Amino acid sequence: MSAFAGILFCVLSCNTLSIVSEMKHISDLLKQNGLAQKDLAQQVGVTEVSMSRYVNVDRTPRGPILANIARVLHTTTINKILRNEKYIGDALLQKTYTTDFLSKTRVKNNGLVPQYYVEGNHEAIIPKEIYLQVQEELVRRRVVKTSANGKKRSYSCNHCFSQIVICGECGEMFRRLHWNNRGVKSIVWRCISRLESTGLECHARTINELVLQDAVVKAINQMLGDKSSYQAQLQLNIASVIRASQVTSVENIDENLMALQQELIQKAQSKEAYDEIADEIFRLRELRQQTTVDTAARDEQIKRINDLQDYIAQQTTHLTEFDESLVRRWIKQITIWDDRITVELKSGVSIDVNA
Ligand SMILES: [Zn+2]
Repeated sequence: MSAFAGILFCVLSCNTLSIVSEMKHISDLLKQNGLAQKDLAQQVGVTEVSMSRYVNVDRTPRGPILANIARVLHTTTINKILRNEKYIGDALLQKTYTTDFLSKTRVKNNGLVPQYYVEGNHEAIIPKEIYLQVQEELVRRRVVKTSANGKKRSYSCNHCFSQIVICGECGEMFRRLHWNNRGVKSIVWRCISRLESTGLECHARTINELVLQDAVVKAINQMLGDKSSYQAQLQLNIASVIRASQVTSVENIDENLMALQQELIQKAQSKEAYDEIADEIFRLRELRQQTTVDTAARDEQIKRINDLQDYIAQQTTHLTEFDESLVRRWIKQITIWDDRITVELKSGVSIDVNA
């Protein structure tokens, strides 16, 4: 086995080992917290049978379920799984590498071993698509909004509208409230500036949740009613995503890296100083990783726009009912104004509705 194949083999087996041990870790955490598998299943929203399969590693949970398990257990360990790019098919190999194949001691790659990016080289434990969705979900849940008075807030609320309903007047988020007006119960959304001191005076209207739901349905129907102009705009959006993407390619960076590594070896052999070159190598490695992430995000955005185009093309009738999956799938932000609501889709399209 060549050294490279050996390292690859190890990364692969360590991967499998680590997801197994993370799941064993779940059962430890359950014990520690005195939480039954049944309770975890209930809180995560899966059946007991499914949860037992995950814990016993008979089955790997899908991204959103994994995110929910992490939320319930509050473990950084699971967050680590979710953020680990090894769980997508494309792995940045040798970020860690194995010095001792028998004891499987993993040593952080301090630059002794060159890094190889191996695209699609092994089967993904979590497919790239789901991984990216999970990342997005994690970011969404982590969102911290800073108010005018400098107060930071973040919400863990998992409602489909949380964190995406924004006040047109003051820019704060809207919050969900149960209202009881002389015995008449309703669920409304209200600007946070009107609920607590944010340093901003705001007069934004309070909006019934049913109105919000209706605005989403109206916006999508408006788009379905004018397919050709929205299709054209989506096409333009794809073009601009491509134009805005990184000009430097990974191949380009690799060429530079290779040359620098050669140069470093020569300098080291002739006992010259090579700190600057080493710094440049580290910088390029960072850039390389960032470029990979940017490319993945760009591809994801293009895919999302394509998905919406397909949806528009295939949808033959107008929507009659609200469905929260519409929000999670397509909608980025909903802005509340006095006389209208602006629904902004993740694909970069904005639709104003009278509501
Ligand atoms: Zn406001």
